[in-house]
Amino acid sequence: MGKFEYAPAPESRAIVSLRESYGLFIGGEFTPGVDGLAFKTISPATEEVLAEVTEAGPADVDRAVTAARKAYEQTWSQLPGKERAKYLFRIARIVQEKARELAVLESLDNGKPIRESRDVDIPLVAAHFFYHAGWADKLEYAGYGAAPRPLGVAGQVIPWNFPLLMLAWKIAPALACGNTAVLKPAETTPLTALAFAEICQQADLPPGVVNIVTGAGETGRALVTHPGIDKVAFTGSTEVGKEIARECAPSRKKLTLELGGKAANIVFEDAPVDQAVEGIVNGIFFNQGHVCCAGSRLLVQESVYGEVLAALRRRLETLRLGDPLDKNTDVGAINSAAQLAKIRELSEIGEAEGAQRWSPPCELPVKGFWFPPTVFTGVSQAHRIAREEIFGPVLSVLTFRTPAEAVEKANNTPFGLSAGVWTEKGSLILWMASRLRAGVVWANTFNKFDPASPFGGYKESGYGREGGRHGLEAYLDV
Ligand code: NDP
Repeated sequence: MGKFEYAPAPESRAIVSLRESYGLFIGGEFTPGVDGLAFKTISPATEEVLAEVTEAGPADVDRAVTAARKAYEQTWSQLPGKERAKYLFRIARIVQEKARELAVLESLDNGKPIRESRDVDIPLVAAHFFYHAGWADKLEYAGYGAAPRPLGVAGQVIPWNFPLLMLAWKIAPALACGNTAVLKPAETTPLTALAFAEICQQADLPPGVVNIVTGAGETGRALVTHPGIDKVAFTGSTEVGKEIARECAPSRKKLTLELGGKAANIVFEDAPVDQAVEGIVNGIFFNQGHVCCAGSRLLVQESVYGEVLAALRRRLETLRLGDPLDKNTDVGAINSAAQLAKIRELSEIGEAEGAQRWSPPCELPVKGFWFPPTVFTGVSQAHRIAREEIFGPVLSVLTFRTPAEAVEKANNTPFGLSAGVWTEKGSLILWMASRLRAGVVWANTFNKFDPASPFGGYKESGYGREGGRHGLEAYLDV
């Protein structure tokens, strides 16, 4: 698919040295699991087995929490902020040095295009550690009192859509504030978290400050319900988030939840069309739409509907789907067979409910998990594809006539994570931003992230903020 033919330009895999099997990272060392259970992690683009990974059971989680508690009491909480900062700076620099290797590894295990892991994920990981390294010795100026105290041991569970970046969002603020951490990566994307464990060793991080326990949902449950945890941080589905909130409610654990979204990307008639189309594409097809804040509902002002749709279709015909390790690839593989099945099911429901489905001509690879960029028109607010998070490269298009109608439709969702506004009028941007019930509102851009900018949701998108000064609050006893 596409107007131009490019020769393949795959990034070399040789830079990555995978082990055949990985243990759990507990107390600064890789150790086997107590039960001897393991699972395989595969490349979603080829279904090739990449490595075998240990499945942590409750006894392993207990070992990890004990190691984190010991490190918290004996080392990490005793260190002055400027000493903690040195470790965080060191980690950030090692991430930069290993950027190429980490980007290839992330694309292999997750299926995302190397262009994104190389230019977005990994630079943001380093930025997140640099940013929080800067806070570690300045916490008394963060607005949380003269001597803000850490909470203790953080139990952190992350999803598969931005594996190393979500790890950075969790571990960097936890450590900067003086906490220790036990983190569980997603079952389908454990490899960069294990590479991060090696980075902790290389940085001489005191043993037990960071512990990585791999496994599936049961491992996550064992972690968040462990009585030795002081703080739970979760990013993932709203369904699991609600379950965790119920489990933590009777305890003294502090909880932050970063859950799903169904963001409106709102295009007014005075918006520059080509720029808006780039924003729409970036909003929903970046990372195959596996983005909690994806602009999955396009709201177009009726007067420019035909023009915007025609330009969007032309642009989608130039997207290149295929090998995630090819630098020319725009759309990579769907992360897992289960996620592909969910995207297919909801797309079929969209058609059955009467919406019109369109995809550019696009050849899908035979092996692996793939779904073409898809646009649904004729969507009404009652349709499931307009209400539910699809978490894939599927855009639902709706129209509006007035700004008030745009606000009403945008807010007509149980979620409230993000929104986008495209217009030349600054006054309209401010008018919209003050009415949209979303944690992040982007104006004339979309999917832009910065460690200094707090991120988080309203309603069923969760609570608490990550990043910026506000994100520190989640890891301090305030
Ligand atoms: P989940 O919410 O199930 O997974 C997120 C993380 O939580 C994973 O590490 C998972 O482990 C773990 N987990 C699962 N069950 C529990 C539990 N009971 N207690 C503690 N931890 C648990 O998301 P899925 O990966 O299953 O994706 C399902 C849907 O969720 C997607 O289709 C998408 O709509 C949404 N989603 C939203 C994300 C967001 O950023 N808002 C991110 C990911 C998904 P494991 O992976 O091993 O199952």
